Amino acid sequence: MRVLVLGAGQLARMMSLAGAPLNIELTAYDVSQSKVVHPLTQVEIKQDLASAIAQADVITAEFEHIPHDILDLCQRSGKFLPSSQAIKAGGDRRIEKALLDSAGVRNANYAVINTYEDFLAAIEHVGLPMVLKSALGGYDGKGQWRLKDANNIDAVWQEMAQCIASSDNQAIVAEEFVPFSREVSLVGARGKDGSIAVYPLAENVHTDGVLSLSTAIADPALQEQAQQMFTAVAQSLDYVGVLALEFFDVDGNLLVNEIAPRVHNSGHWTQQGAETCQFENHLRAVCGLPLGSTKLVRETTMINILGEDTLPPTLLAMDGCHIHWYGKEKRAGRKMGHINVCGDYSGELQRRLCALAEQLDQQAFPAIHNFAAGFNKFSL
Ligand code: ATP
Ligand code: MG
Repeated sequence: MRVLVLGAGQLARMMSLAGAPLNIELTAYDVSQSKVVHPLTQVEIKQDLASAIAQADVITAEFEHIPHDILDLCQRSGKFLPSSQAIKAGGDRRIEKALLDSAGVRNANYAVINTYEDFLAAIEHVGLPMVLKSALGGYDGKGQWRLKDANNIDAVWQEMAQCIASSDNQAIVAEEFVPFSREVSLVGARGKDGSIAVYPLAENVHTDGVLSLSTAIADPALQEQAQQMFTAVAQSLDYVGVLALEFFDVDGNLLVNEIAPRVHNSGHWTQQGAETCQFENHLRAVCGLPLGSTKLVRETTMINILGEDTLPPTLLAMDGCHIHWYGKEKRAGRKMGHINVCGDYSGELQRRLCALAEQLDQQAFPAIHNFAAGFNKFSL
């Protein structure tokens, strides 16, 4: 099978690694540079998009911010999974919110803002404090504002107005501020035959709007809620592939924050922690193969490596510690790789995380240091 992936970042790279043992061969289309590349080496393959589409058996995507003309071209080939509709929903918060509403899935109260009058109406309708997010192009907490009180309305509006004017079809989605106790996400796959297999929920820690830690958790009541919402969204899109739902947990009640129509950073733990990883299951789904088991095989936490390109080699000698680099050039804050830490039971995982924290720089890895400080305090 030949799969063309729209996007040539780390997600396409990890899909390529997972596809090789199944004889699934990947090429990637670097959307920003308009070239077809090998997803592991980034070496250009002298081919235009039209011939890459013609040669592929299946086309899929690793991110949602893709120009609609490219999505439409792929959709017309009849090979694109999930659909252009699903990718568009992930890339535009207006479409995403409308989809959640129509699927009957709980999400934060919201309003769409195009003008200053809309902004005032949104404050009335949604209330303060609120979170304001650009409809298009947001990721890793970028393109967001917080409005706590009425004093800052004009200052925030200045910035939002610039954002709205900066590109065609841009708008702002205002959301009520959700007082969540934690954030969790559900990654799962839906096959061509409609079968669904979801992984255990992951509990996620964000640092400055970017995911820093993700740990698979066992919470049957929450899992059941999340799975129902996953099924509602996946069925309403007639979705095929891996889909991720991010949730706010408000005292045991889940609210969807957003959806990602692709493999997701909070599912990287599945590479060591699940019977079949999310990358393989995405390929199985889009290639029409049976889904693999999503069962947890060992307790696992994923730690993102942000803006760093070296780690102490001693990490490789630590039991249960697995390093994944993405082969990217170093840039401040950039997702450069991740570490999966495993244990046979949760106490072992926690001890290994504390031992790992001692090896990692506190400034570069604040979340695992916070975890270790809390754990050590608790166990004293
Ligand atoms: P990513 O692509 O990394 O998931 P994003 O840029 O798409 O991020 P969101 O997931 O919408 O943005 O928001 C980033 C973070 O901001 C959330 O994980 C959460 O911590 C916080 N946040 C977002 N919306 C709200 C809200 N309505 N109330 C409270 N906190 C929020
Ligand atoms: Mg998010």
